[in-house]
Amino acid sequence: MARVLIIGAGGVSGVAVHKCAQASEVFTDICLASRTKSKCDAIAAQLKRPIRTEQVDADNVPQLVALIRDFQPDVVLNLALPYQDLHIMDACLETGVHYIDAANYEPPDEAHFEYSWQWAYQDRFKAKGITALLGCGFDPGVTNVFCAWAVKQNYFDTIDTLDIIDANAADNGHPFATNFNPEINIREVSANGKYYKDGQFIETKPMEFSQVFDFPAGIGPKKMYLLWHEELESLAPFLKKKGLKEARFWMTFSDNYLKHLEVLENVGMTRIDPVMYQGHEIIPLQFLKALLPDPATLGPTTVGKTCIGCLIRGKKDGKDRQYYIYNVCDHQKCYQEVQSQAVSYTTGVPAMIGAMLVATGVWKGAGVYNMEQFDPAPFMEKLNQYGLPWVEEFK
Ligand code: NDP
Repeated sequence: MARVLIIGAGGVSGVAVHKCAQASEVFTDICLASRTKSKCDAIAAQLKRPIRTEQVDADNVPQLVALIRDFQPDVVLNLALPYQDLHIMDACLETGVHYIDAANYEPPDEAHFEYSWQWAYQDRFKAKGITALLGCGFDPGVTNVFCAWAVKQNYFDTIDTLDIIDANAADNGHPFATNFNPEINIREVSANGKYYKDGQFIETKPMEFSQVFDFPAGIGPKKMYLLWHEELESLAPFLKKKGLKEARFWMTFSDNYLKHLEVLENVGMTRIDPVMYQGHEIIPLQFLKALLPDPATLGPTTVGKTCIGCLIRGKKDGKDRQYYIYNVCDHQKCYQEVQSQAVSYTTGVPAMIGAMLVATGVWKGAGVYNMEQFDPAPFMEKLNQYGLPWVEEFK
């Protein structure tokens, strides 16, 4: 029996709200609050049971505190944007309520993301006796749990390399559209890459490294590019105890996507510094976001599959071993179930599972946690139960 407050009413939140509403045996009360209340009401109208909706500015801590005090949730699920993370953590600290998010903090004026700002809350969450669970989406999120699972199952005596591999083999019916928040997506993709090697993080130029990977489930060979992704920051130290030498993150992009991105970058539309236009300051990337399709509306037109997983290489009993664990998710099946495409689905389902495990005390601990720090077994079981079944292949 748990009460969950979900903040943000975009694509990912829509899925998490549907899934929490389905799990009525756990989530007896749901409140959905966001900057634009009409978006909360539109999601609420899709559900078979009533939920409460509210307007909230998640950058306004007193407003958040008042809402939390009034609704009295067991857990706050932050599915707004990374810019709001610290404000929502502050409100959770003030009210003594568990906190979960799906993306690490980013300062709005700098395309730079790392865990240091949120890890700095460790002592305060410990002292308050509450949990902050960071990065509870698919990647980060499930990918961290997959790594913890490989360790727990003793699949390796030593681990040499980790490659996190994310493919979206889909057509969304638009010449150019991002599958999650366009501003966050473009900031992530146009930033320098980075990977872990021999105890250090090494920076690369954007899209400097690529390779072709043959994806399962009929997806076939796709070109993927090395990106910096936040889970490497916590997974590299976690897997170091198993001997990890190298960890990289790869994502597929179509030539069409990259061509659009290149042109937008060349003309300055991806800039995040203010530009004067007709007497007003505008941020070009925020203006571009306003022009691009809202990812929450892509459900009906997106066809194809996502395939996200971890490829781990190392040794077991003196022999080389390769382990590939992944999930395949079909965009149209997601749409039929929760009226969203698979990128939102693969993020919203783990967010709901994290909220469920923390709210019910299955995952318990005072402090700030990354996903691999908890027992992966209950999470793995719930992935199968709630729509994200996983497959393991050994070589
Ligand atoms: P959307 O842009 O679709 O939704 C964001 C929502 O947050 C919008 O409803 C927006 O309100 C709301 N919001 C923004 N600012 C505020 C504020 N100050 N106060 C209250 N609400 C606010 O994003 P997505 O659903 O695509 O992504 C949600 C999060 O999930 C992001 O942090 C993203 O990085 C993360 N993500 C994580 C993934 C993972 O695997 N870990 C994968 C994909 C996404 P409004 O509607 O008024 O604009």
